[in-house]
Amino acid sequence: MNKAVGSQWNATEMEEAARRHLLSPSEAMEKLGQSARPLLSRGDGIYVIDAKGRRLIDGPAGMWCTQIGYNRREIADAIAEQALQLAYNSPWYTVNSPSAELAARIAAMTPGDLNRVFFTTGGSTAVDSALRFVEFYNNVLGRPEKKHIIVRREGYHGSTALTAACSGRAGNWPNFDIISDRISFISSPNIRLAGDKDEAAFLDFLVDEFRQEIARVGADKVAVFLAEPLLASGGVIIPPKGYHARFKAVCEEHDIVYISDEVVTGFGRCGEWFASEKVFGVVPDIITFAKGVTSGYVPLGGFAISERLLDKVSGDNARGSNYSNGYTYSGHPVSCAAALANIAVIEKDGILEHVRDISGYFAERLHSLADLPLVANVRASGLVGCVECLVDTSSPNVTDFDKRIGARIDIHCAELGLIVRPLGNMCVMSPALIITREQIDDMIGILRQGIERAAAEIM
Ligand code: PLP
Repeated sequence: MNKAVGSQWNATEMEEAARRHLLSPSEAMEKLGQSARPLLSRGDGIYVIDAKGRRLIDGPAGMWCTQIGYNRREIADAIAEQALQLAYNSPWYTVNSPSAELAARIAAMTPGDLNRVFFTTGGSTAVDSALRFVEFYNNVLGRPEKKHIIVRREGYHGSTALTAACSGRAGNWPNFDIISDRISFISSPNIRLAGDKDEAAFLDFLVDEFRQEIARVGADKVAVFLAEPLLASGGVIIPPKGYHARFKAVCEEHDIVYISDEVVTGFGRCGEWFASEKVFGVVPDIITFAKGVTSGYVPLGGFAISERLLDKVSGDNARGSNYSNGYTYSGHPVSCAAALANIAVIEKDGILEHVRDISGYFAERLHSLADLPLVANVRASGLVGCVECLVDTSSPNVTDFDKRIGARIDIHCAELGLIVRPLGNMCVMSPALIITREQIDDMIGILRQGIERAAAEIM
């Protein structure tokens, strides 16, 4: 398709252009160019409006990221003003004011001594850079053999070569080559996989398995434990109480860096700026963030790192080293200005307090779906939740048929006015953090109908 620049495209032409020319991050290749994704033309609060003018609740808030909702003038103005003021600077040689201010603001939000912030372009590059920092750290400390990374099955950490290799969700990367020689997977802390163990016994089992994996690899070789506070893309898996503190203690015993991947849980999703300490009881060595830092208005990510770690490889301990890793757009002034405006809105509108106030209601309404056929398990924390569906709800096994249930529910919900994030047999809900009780009722009401319709087709 070739139209003059500046000419108006109608919805049909735009859909046709997308079909012919876009390669999206998830394509059933035998159908490349045949099926159209919904074309969204606008967003408004917790809603998106499609090209035909239909208004849908955005159940997953884009990809768990539009915290303050769509259409906020404060962020749009901050982006425009910064673009006019200083659209770009090289982070390799210069500093811009929004990135300096944002680093200080984030340092004040993080727990412990995580007082230095490195900016990237999104979540994958945040985790990738954090992992690469630990690589640098151990090399400077003169222990190049300490490089192994331990992660969990069902975890998700991104789409760079390294972060993809750290992402354990089954079937994530068919036909891609994955780095495997220095990464190992331990069990997901998913209580549904606990068999006949109660929560305390399951936690003991998980800690023991972690210790065994460290012993198998050799403590002198294990560099990092990388974990999401709750496994978001794995299906909102909430670990047993005390899990993270127990794992952190094991890390401290063996001088292993604990990285908490807060790309989803950061910036209010669980009612705090960061969930690691206040919700999950752990002060990590590094926290990664992205998504909600700008409410998804523009790309930005990064990590905050402990001064204790930095002190070991800087100043008198630098051993002549030069940290050299980054991006053309590290600390991009427009992204950082958007993040500052986003933080100002979250503070002004009391959004963290709102999430803390409303999350019990969200969980209760989500759990009200447990009486439906197909619903095997419901989980929620803060404003993120998941409904897991199985044809045989008494079995822990997920069949290939079950893996398509989420997509069926999504189709019905889209007809009824709700976007669902189908993840195999699971439907994830993580709405914009400004959602009201009435809007939660609407969202769960539609989800109920969508599940009922899917059940009627199947059972
Ligand atoms: N880490 C976690 C926990 C995520 O959920 C994601 C994306 O969903 C990422 C990292 C990767 O972030 P991005 O897609 O911005 O690269």
